[in-house]
Amino acid sequence: MYYYKVAIVASPLDLLSYHSHQELQKGSVVSVVLNNKERTAVVINEVEKPPFETLEIASLKDEYFSAKQLQLANFISSYYICSLGDALSLQRAFQKAPLKSTNISSEALTSKIELSKRQEEALAFAKQHPVSLLFGDTGSGKTEIYMEFFHQLLREGKKAIFLMPEISLTPQMSKRLEEHFGEHFVMWHSKLTPLQKKKALQKIDDGTAKIIAGARSCLFLPVEDLGLIVVDEEHDESYKSASRPRYNARDLAIYMGHLYGAHVLLGSATPSLTSYVKFPHIRLKGGHIAAKREFVFLRESEGVSESILRELKERVEKKEQSILFVPTRANFKHLLCASCGHTFTCAFCSVGMSLHLKHNALKCHYCNFTQAIPKSCPECSGDELVSSRVGTAEALKVVQEYIPEAKVEQFDRDAITTAKKLREALERFNNREIDILVGTQMLSKGHDYHDVTFAAILGMDNLLSQGDYRAREKALSLLIQVAGRSGRAKDAKVLVQSFNEEFFRPYLENYEAFLEEEKFFREELYPPFKKLCRVLFAHKKEQKAHEEMRQMEDALRRFGDVEIVGAKKCAIERVAGKYRFEILLRADKSTALIKAVRSCKTKLAEVDMDPLDFV
Ligand code: ADP
Ligand code: ZN
Repeated sequence: MYYYKVAIVASPLDLLSYHSHQELQKGSVVSVVLNNKERTAVVINEVEKPPFETLEIASLKDEYFSAKQLQLANFISSYYICSLGDALSLQRAFQKAPLKSTNISSEALTSKIELSKRQEEALAFAKQHPVSLLFGDTGSGKTEIYMEFFHQLLREGKKAIFLMPEISLTPQMSKRLEEHFGEHFVMWHSKLTPLQKKKALQKIDDGTAKIIAGARSCLFLPVEDLGLIVVDEEHDESYKSASRPRYNARDLAIYMGHLYGAHVLLGSATPSLTSYVKFPHIRLKGGHIAAKREFVFLRESEGVSESILRELKERVEKKEQSILFVPTRANFKHLLCASCGHTFTCAFCSVGMSLHLKHNALKCHYCNFTQAIPKSCPECSGDELVSSRVGTAEALKVVQEYIPEAKVEQFDRDAITTAKKLREALERFNNREIDILVGTQMLSKGHDYHDVTFAAILGMDNLLSQGDYRAREKALSLLIQVAGRSGRAKDAKVLVQSFNEEFFRPYLENYEAFLEEEKFFREELYPPFKKLCRVLFAHKKEQKAHEEMRQMEDALRRFGDVEIVGAKKCAIERVAGKYRFEILLRADKSTALIKAVRSCKTKLAEVDMDPLDFV
C-alpha cells in the first residue's frame, strides 16, 4: 500500500492523506472523496502510513502537473499565503496524450521585420539580461521588437508567452500576431467562447501553439521549452488579481523566468517605479513615426469646458478625430441634496451611487445595487438635487448637444460589454465612422488609433488627490498613456483640464525625471524600498470583523521586524453588506511579512501581499 499527501484543488485546506494500491507519480491529478463529495486533487508526496484511517484515492486522471508547475504553486502558496490547492487551481495541468510533432511553417520562422538600429540595440539588451525593462514611448516600436524576438526563439525551438492587459487584446493585436505566426499563435483570455477555448487548448496541448498571447491567466497554461515571457504595459494594475490568491502576474512572470531559464522582457511607456528600480532598462524615445504633441493646461474644475467643446467642434469640421477622457462612467458620480447636503449612498456599501440617466437609475458601482432616481431628498424633502463629477454618459450628452452633426460614441464598460462590441467600435473609429470617442481608462490601453489629432483629458486632479502612495504615479502615467493615443501619424494637441500643471508639465516628455524624483519620496516608507502587506476582514456583523482584526493585530505585535502601520476600518467601510476592516503592515523584507502573517492569520483574514488597492 502507498500513502500520499494530496492537495485538494481550489480548497483552502491543508494537505490531506489518502492511500492507493498503485504507486503514483508526484503531480498526478486524481479524484478523491472528501465529506462525501468527489473532489479533484493533486498528489504532492509519498508519506509513511499515518496513525489514522485513510480513504483510498478514487481514480487517476489523464492529467498531471509538471515539477515546474508544482514549484510555481509552492511559491504562490508561500508568497501569497494561500493553500497549495488554491495555488494549483490557477494552473492548467498537462494532458497525458502524446504531442503532435508539428513542422513549424516557414512564415513563422522567418521574419520580415527590419528593426531600426536603436530597436536592434534594445533587442540585444533584452537578450543579454535575464529580466529587462523596455522603457519605450507609445509608438516607439516595442511590439515590433517583441515580434522579432519571438521569431528568433521559434528558430531555436522555443516557445513564448506574451502577456498583456485584457483590454489590450484587441483585434488589431491578434491580426498582427496572426500575420507573423499563423497557426503557431493562440490568444487566451476570459472572453473566448467555449469553442474558441477548446480550439486554443487543443493547440496548446498538442504543441502547435508556440506564441501564447493573453491576459494574466495565460501565464498558467501548460507550456514546456519556454524561452521568453513578455509583459507588455507592465505598469498596468490589472496584472494584480483581486481575488484569492491575490497574485501579481508581472511578478510571477519574473519568478517563472527564473524557474524555466527563460528571458523576461517588461515593456511600458510609463514603467512602474518598482520595475524601474529593480531591473536594467533601455530607453526608446519618440514614436517610430515622428509626430509631435502639444500640451495645453486649462485651469477649470468640473465638466466639459467651453474651450474643449470649441476645439472638438473645430476638429469635426476639419474631419479630424478626437478622444475625450473622463475618469468615471455614468452621467454623474454623485448626487446630493442642495438644501441639507444629504448624499445618496448605496444601501449595502458606504459609497455614493452613480447617476445613470439612460436607465433613470442610481447605481452602485461596487455591488450593482440599483434604485430609481429620487425626486426629492428623503431627509429634508428638499427637491433640489444636484449632481457632481461628470461621467462618460454626461460628457457625451454635452458634446452631442454642442455639435449635433458629430458622430460621438461612448467607450467604457457600460457601452463595450463584449469582445465583439470592442472590435466593432475600434473598426468604426479607424474607418472614420466616429468623430469623437468619449471614454474611461479603456481609452488609454494599447489601442492603435491611427489618426487622432486632439485629446481632451478631464478628472486628473481627483486622481492626484487620492490618498494612495501611488497617486502621483497613477495620475501621471494615465495622462501620458491617454495622450499617447493621439499624434500617432499626425501632430496633435492635448488639452488637460487641471489645476496641477506645475506637477505634470516637467514630466510630460520626461517620465524618467519623475521616476528619479519619486524614488526620494518613497524611500524609507514605500515600495519598492519597503514591502507592504494588507490584511482584510469582511463580515456581515461589524463586531465579528472588528474582533478578528484586533485579535490578529495583538498577535502581530510580537514580531519586531514587522511594523503595524494601521489597524482600522477600511476607507470604504461596507461593501455588499459586509463591514470591512484592515491591517496594513510594513517590513524591509517580504520574508518577515510572510512569517508573521502566516503565523497570526485568523480565519476571516484575507491576505493581500504587495497591495495596489487601498479602498
Ligand atoms: P509600441 O508597441 O511601442 O506602441 P509599435 O511596435 O506598435 O509601438 O510601433 C508603432 C508603429 O510603428 C506601428 O505601426 C509599427 O508597425 C511601426 N513600426 C515600428 N517599428 C518598425 C520598423 N522597424 N519598421 C517598420 N515599421 C515599424
Ligand atoms: Zn453597493
